[in-house]
Amino acid sequence: MFKIFSRLATATLIVILGSSIIWAAAPSEIEREFDALEAGQYVTTAEFQRRLQSLYNTIDVADKALLMRWKRLHCWSLEPNEVQTPPKLIAVATNYIAEAEAANDLAAIADFHVCRGYYEQVYGDVDLALQDYNLAIELVINSEHEQLIADAYSSRGDLYAYRGELALGLGDLLVAQKYYESADITYWIRQNMASIANTYRRIGNFDRALEYYQQLERIFLEEDKVSALLEIREQIALVLEDQGQYQQAYTLYSDALDYYLAQSDDYGVAFSRLNIAGVMLALEKPTQALKHLSLSEAIFDEHPDFGTSALVHLFIGRAHYQLGDNQKALDYFDFAEPSIRKEKNFRYLAWLLQAKAKALSAEKRWQEAYETTEEYQRNHEQLDLMLRKQQTVRMQVEFDVARKEAENERLKADTLIKQKQVESLEERRRWQLIVLFLGGILLLVALVFLIRQVNSKRQLHRLASTDELTGLPNRRDILQRGKEMIDHARAEHAPFSVLVFDIDYFKRINDTYGHHGGDEVLRLIAPASLSVMRYQDRVGRTGGEEFLALLPGAGLDHAAKVAERLRQKISDIDTATIAVDMKVSVSIGVAQLTADDSNLSELIQRADNALYRAKENGRDCVEIER
Ligand code: GH3
Ligand code: MG
Ligand code: MG
Repeated sequence: MFKIFSRLATATLIVILGSSIIWAAAPSEIEREFDALEAGQYVTTAEFQRRLQSLYNTIDVADKALLMRWKRLHCWSLEPNEVQTPPKLIAVATNYIAEAEAANDLAAIADFHVCRGYYEQVYGDVDLALQDYNLAIELVINSEHEQLIADAYSSRGDLYAYRGELALGLGDLLVAQKYYESADITYWIRQNMASIANTYRRIGNFDRALEYYQQLERIFLEEDKVSALLEIREQIALVLEDQGQYQQAYTLYSDALDYYLAQSDDYGVAFSRLNIAGVMLALEKPTQALKHLSLSEAIFDEHPDFGTSALVHLFIGRAHYQLGDNQKALDYFDFAEPSIRKEKNFRYLAWLLQAKAKALSAEKRWQEAYETTEEYQRNHEQLDLMLRKQQTVRMQVEFDVARKEAENERLKADTLIKQKQVESLEERRRWQLIVLFLGGILLLVALVFLIRQVNSKRQLHRLASTDELTGLPNRRDILQRGKEMIDHARAEHAPFSVLVFDIDYFKRINDTYGHHGGDEVLRLIAPASLSVMRYQDRVGRTGGEEFLALLPGAGLDHAAKVAERLRQKISDIDTATIAVDMKVSVSIGVAQLTADDSNLSELIQRADNALYRAKENGRDCVEIER
């Protein structure tokens, strides 16, 4: 009538709770074998253990990470039997936990806790098992180990469901399903789906249960996985049983039994017989029930699966009660009772108490019958209350899962949008950089052009304002400067004087030494004249061999002194480089700006007049305006 909790440790399917470790190495033979075993396999326990052993022989045991990975598989490959009793397996897992803790391997620690929890659960220590599952969940819930998170939730969900806390169990299993799907682990997606279906069935939501079962049935049929298919059909049979369709349920159980017998799968045979016995009891055929139960008892007794043997004893008790052997029935009930109580399985306890009360009253042990009935009532009420609560919680759980899913979708969408925003921002930044860079280059080019232009402008200006032969300001330029200086002098009420000078007998120099010789003389005038001037003074060439000097801030006396120094300097010019007997001199006229001067020309005119007198006076001399 009932399926014993998980068949994780049965011989048909071996269950490996590997985790999502990422290996950097290229997938070698060893890697592939690890991956295959971790992904979960439809192989027998013996086959699995054989492959695990040969894997151990090929790996380098000095590679600590690889060895740890192997140990995780090993922990899950163990099967409780007379030699490897659950306490021994719990000890193995405990040692592994210590090793993983020493290695600071979070995933391994969590995995071993789930593994140990499983053996504690098999042993009937559900509280310890729950502790281990909770610890594992806490350790990995915020990690990227999706399969491990799923494993821990799935195991805890199975435990909750097994001990009757169906809504809690369902909640965990639905969470586990999300993680398995996200990690894309086919084998475990299906295993967990079966657990979800079982839980729906036990809650009484047969439609939902059948939805899951039939989905799995289709898959296994398509993939021709006979044993998996039979298992699912056994689950479907349980639904049929719950709906009172005993004959159909019996057919499915019998098919399974035939298969397991052919496969010599003891555990499968024992479970099938237990299920068939449940149907027989429901049909009140105790003799047939007993036949199957005694055969399955023999098998279960060989295996320390405590929960299961309690159920077998409860069934045997019920068969004896139906046969009228109340004392025998009570003996079996007493035998089953402690482990059912230890496991806190309210469903089993309700069945036990009900059957026991009937047997006690048949034996006329009224007081005990009354007490047992009372406890049954209390337990039943509690169970009812739990079921009612579970209906509410179940809806809440399903609602929560749906909401979480919606939230996850929203988060995913948000993340995507943010990612896109970041991308476009980065793109924009990249373009900005490019633009900035290109802009910089353009600016540089522009700057170079500008500098060139400024330079050429300067050069043009220089060309336009400079006398090519002497390098002095030309006529236009020196007159312009003169006008500015007059404005300035007037504004500042400062004195301003000019010298006008002209080379003496220059025609003769040209005639005697050639035009070229004359040019050389003109060239020598420039440095000579500049050498007697101050920083702010200017000298320009105004005509063929005529020059104008501007002396800002200089009064007539000062200007006369400069003129004399200039005359001296020029007459001292060493002309030997041109011709040994050459003699150069200038005549200079000096004039100072007056308030009456209307412009520069008037001032220059007065200096010219003075120059004319200097020529008259025999040249090579200075004349000051009168
Ligand atoms: P004075 O002492 O009265 O000034 O007599 P001068 O010969 O210097 O005066 P004049 O005005 O008669 O002669 C000026 C000569 O200067 C005429 C011209 O050939 C010459 N001259 C003008 N410009 C240049 C020039 O750029 N280079 C040369 N080599 N000679 C020039
Ligand atoms: Mg002249
Ligand atoms: Mg002259």
